[in-house]
Amino acid sequence: MKFSNTYSQLASAFYQRIDPTKVSDPQLLFWNKSLAKRLLIDEKLTLDLNLLSQYFSGNQIPDGAEPMALAYSGHQFGHFNPQLGDGRAHLLGEVIASDNRRYDIQLKGSGPTRFSRQGDGRCAIGPAVREYIMSEAMFALGVSTSRCLSVVTTGEAVYREQPLAGAVVTRVASSHIRVGTFQYFAAIGDIESLETLTHYTIERHFPQIDINADDKIEQFLVCVIDKQIELIISWMRVGFIHGVMNTDNTAISGETIDFGPCAMMSNYHSGTVFSSIDKQGRYAFGNQPHIAQWNMARLAECLLLLFGSNQEKALKKIEPIIIAFTEQFESAYFTMLANKLGFNEVDKKDHHFINELLDLMQKQELDYTNTFIKLTHSLNDADTQNNLKEQLGDWYNNWRKQLEDKSQNIQAAKKLMEQNNPLVIPRNHHIETILAEYEISGKSTIIDRFLKVLRSPYKQLSETNEFQDAPKDGDHHYRTFCGT
Ligand code: AMP
Ligand code: MG
Repeated sequence: MKFSNTYSQLASAFYQRIDPTKVSDPQLLFWNKSLAKRLLIDEKLTLDLNLLSQYFSGNQIPDGAEPMALAYSGHQFGHFNPQLGDGRAHLLGEVIASDNRRYDIQLKGSGPTRFSRQGDGRCAIGPAVREYIMSEAMFALGVSTSRCLSVVTTGEAVYREQPLAGAVVTRVASSHIRVGTFQYFAAIGDIESLETLTHYTIERHFPQIDINADDKIEQFLVCVIDKQIELIISWMRVGFIHGVMNTDNTAISGETIDFGPCAMMSNYHSGTVFSSIDKQGRYAFGNQPHIAQWNMARLAECLLLLFGSNQEKALKKIEPIIIAFTEQFESAYFTMLANKLGFNEVDKKDHHFINELLDLMQKQELDYTNTFIKLTHSLNDADTQNNLKEQLGDWYNNWRKQLEDKSQNIQAAKKLMEQNNPLVIPRNHHIETILAEYEISGKSTIIDRFLKVLRSPYKQLSETNEFQDAPKDGDHHYRTFCGT
């Protein structure tokens, strides 16, 4: 591994330099070969399972790594917490991958830091494996996301409600800079560091912005918002509910991070919530755009501090960018849904038609993923067509008529639908069954089989249909926990 670290060159206010805590018996459980290749990790190293488990448990520090816990704050369920930070994670450093991009390599569950508060700095095996599966699935679905390079068991127990096997998961992301990182410096009034952070982030994530431009801050905010909109749109395209969209879990890069209580929607309902602690439905499926905008407003508040004393003038520049989110999101959202229905384009008068389908799905408790698969299939299958005519009535006939009118040919429309509607998603009941089976048997082959299918979500493999069934109880009783 060739580290080329830049975050460590920032002032010490940005992090705590601290080594991971050693564990007694590290065993490599999962190794993401294709990601390792992308990261240009030395092939000789990837064959040395013992050394991999030493490195990715935190027992041994690879040459060039500079382990550190990053400082950040965050709004959690709307309440500001000035002191969060990596309480159980260590950034090892950055590498340049085969795509010429810079990636953070971070251990999670690797021991306490000065940001741990009451936490033990550890991670249980269940959530680690779940993050591995979910992030691989999201990557294959075409959603911007952090990924897992490895999961290593520690040989030590972590104590939650009961003792569980401990694990260290290695997370790879374009960076771990969050909205909460900006909030950290804003909250302590350290404007110099806030400025440094802004420059650093622009250079790292948005090099197209001229750092000397007068409007660089406005441009930066626009770029971050574009990425957030793209992210939430792709979550909603595949039915993903993040579950804990706090500002500390909102990466500036626009990648999905922190998979704790996330889940997939089965029956379409905009109010779907699975997280046991989200009692008010703040992070419900259909509320995600509103929350993303709220989070961007929190980032904007931090950026305002960079404009000096004339805050009124600054507000006039920044506020319209936040307001524009609403319309920009709406347009991208309806385009996404139109694509799912085989339309290349969409105009305002189609919004009502699209909403009608969502209403029908919500009222009839139809499975989101499978309904779109059926619509696609119905284009050349008479049985599916009849079935949908019964279920959706006039709406179905209307859709077919519009397809005839709008698309050059039905096959092109079908192709567009196939590209935008996954055949398989990491369904909650499958994840839970597989994790439970794995816990009993310890056989990772069960997970490998699931991963094989999830890694080709738009292709019908011979195993795909084993994982396509909607949950029998419509996931009505399904609950997720931050339980990490
Ligand atoms: P999360 O809910 O994972 O986004 O974490 C929120 C905050 O709690 C972050 O500052 C984490 O580092 C911290 N945290 C979560 N779990 C632990 C743990 N087991 N030990 C120490 N800190 C933790
Ligand atoms: Mg977090």
